[in-house]
Amino acid sequence: MTDVVELNSPPVSLLGMNRRMLADWLVSQGEKPFRAQQLMQWVHQRGVIDYAQMTDLSKVLRAKLASLAPIRLPEVKVDQIADDDTRKWLLEVDGGNAIEMVFIPDKNRGTLCISSQVGCALACTFCMTARQGFNRNLTSDEIVGQVWLAQHLLRLAGWGEKPVTNVVFMGMGEPLLNVNHVFPAADVLMDDWGYGLSKNRVTISTSGVTPAMDMLSERLDVSLAVSLHAANDTLRDVLVPINQKYPLNELMVACRRYLQAYPKRHIMFEYVMLKGINDSTKHAKEVITLLQGLSAKVNLIPFNPFPGTDYQTSAWDVILAFQNRLMASGLQTNVRRTRGEDIDAACGQLAGDVADRTKRSASIRQTTVKFDRHAPRDKR
Ligand code: SF4
Repeated sequence: MTDVVELNSPPVSLLGMNRRMLADWLVSQGEKPFRAQQLMQWVHQRGVIDYAQMTDLSKVLRAKLASLAPIRLPEVKVDQIADDDTRKWLLEVDGGNAIEMVFIPDKNRGTLCISSQVGCALACTFCMTARQGFNRNLTSDEIVGQVWLAQHLLRLAGWGEKPVTNVVFMGMGEPLLNVNHVFPAADVLMDDWGYGLSKNRVTISTSGVTPAMDMLSERLDVSLAVSLHAANDTLRDVLVPINQKYPLNELMVACRRYLQAYPKRHIMFEYVMLKGINDSTKHAKEVITLLQGLSAKVNLIPFNPFPGTDYQTSAWDVILAFQNRLMASGLQTNVRRTRGEDIDAACGQLAGDVADRTKRSASIRQTTVKFDRHAPRDKR
């Protein structure tokens, strides 16, 4: 697959270029390819986006970069911190479209959940993002820009030098419907000259776009999460409508191909727990049968209700019983702790409606874009 970059069409943004793309662009500008490493180190590792500060580059090159490739970042519109320290940002890209990203701190790691599209076309019926429809794909700049920005803001807030230790493509959008930008962005995240995240710490999630899952297997060694939510086609056709195009048998074939490409890996299957819909003993047995023999783990996600939905979350004892049934069959099964509920940051609640968001912020410690509002503190 060819990565997309339009050479010689200024202004260019270097933020989302992987090392090869960046080296190619530099060569096209008459520069040495090794400059790509220097630039990546400045931008992604040191967090410097002002070319004037990149002192190991010549003044001429710095001026050229400033004129040809100004670095543009998403703009923070709303910055919210939940009671459990989960932090969510509403970001504006291209002066109008809004996306969200969420930082979920834990004892030994900080997970950043980023968006890959503005809105989403896949219309999963339990998902709030689906309600706003699809607007456009994010560029690799806008995807990497989220990580740069989160790292920068979290450093300023005292979370240490490398606050983002894991990145999951589980925010707005279906990442595998935007592979031309998601794949180079993932390269930057895993490059030692970029963010240096190990392949186990970058997870791409999909609802089951099987042709792109095969592209992923060929192109990118990252962790894979599959939004399963039902293990029979009749129900999954409703919950995850892309199942009508790529049904479960095709999905399982694509999963097996991924595991053949990366035999040491497992696939994380996400399963939202919906009361009376997909949480019975029968449904648990279907999951066990479907995943039999596969290197798989299951994440049970208590549903987070949002205004206008008819779905309810399963009762806690039902979730635990479901988990026990899966565990008894040998499937490693976790129940995901709901995080950031008071700021609607939990899974499936990402939507870019600024007005609505700001109205529902009564219980939120909310900041605007003033970076210095949080005194430095050591969180871990
Ligand atoms: S769950 Fe994911 S793929 Fe489905 S509509 Fe929501 S954002 Fe899109």
